[in-house]
Amino acid sequence: MNFETLSSYCQANNVVLVAVSKTQSLAAVKALYDKGHRIFGENKVQELMDKKDLLPSDIQWHVIGHLQTNKIKQILPFVTMIHSVDSMKLMNEIQHEAQKLNRNISILLQVRIAQEDTKFGLETEEYNSIIANYNDGLFPNISILGLMGMASFVEDQNQIRAEFQKLKSIFDETKSSIKDQHKFNTLSMGMSGDYKLAIDEGSTMVRIGSLLFGDRIA
Ligand SMILES: *Cc1c(COP(=O)(O)O)cnc(C)c1O
Repeated sequence: MNFETLSSYCQANNVVLVAVSKTQSLAAVKALYDKGHRIFGENKVQELMDKKDLLPSDIQWHVIGHLQTNKIKQILPFVTMIHSVDSMKLMNEIQHEAQKLNRNISILLQVRIAQEDTKFGLETEEYNSIIANYNDGLFPNISILGLMGMASFVEDQNQIRAEFQKLKSIFDETKSSIKDQHKFNTLSMGMSGDYKLAIDEGSTMVRIGSLLFGDRIA
């Protein structure tokens, strides 16, 4: 699908488009940049570090992939948003490093909604602990702006819809009690194969790679 069509579809639905540029060339990223796009998502820290210095500095980089705590330090100085915070350990490390930089980091909590157990994401107990600690002021250098989730990779549209509905209901419930609730507005759900369904179910941010760039090399 071409960029203009997808971009106007997202705009018409008030949804932010994150162009997922993992495995794509610098030229491919630059081509979208030249059409005015600024928000790009990467899932590997090394690839992000390799790319970002060779691309315009006003790109807003979103980290969407599973993160190891020892990689946090590298990305915090410039990252715009981390979608994939999936443990208390990661929250503690982000807080620790963000404080040193005197930065406030925008994050989403990744919640496990897929039935497949291969997918990352928080389970209820750890999720609740993170929210409780956040509400208690334990993460002064972190802003939790919302949630991210990935549906199962299946054909069954009903299953995908049910998983998105589950994430939306966790989102609504959390919003009613979280500190700084006016900031808690982002629901990152939907990829190339399921973004329309995700938008129907209340997504405010979609992460789209292959549909925009064509199939990935790796
Ligand atoms: C790769 C990736 C996407 C984009 O996937 P496509 O199917 O190519 O649109 C979205 N979110 C995450 C977390 C990813 O790793």
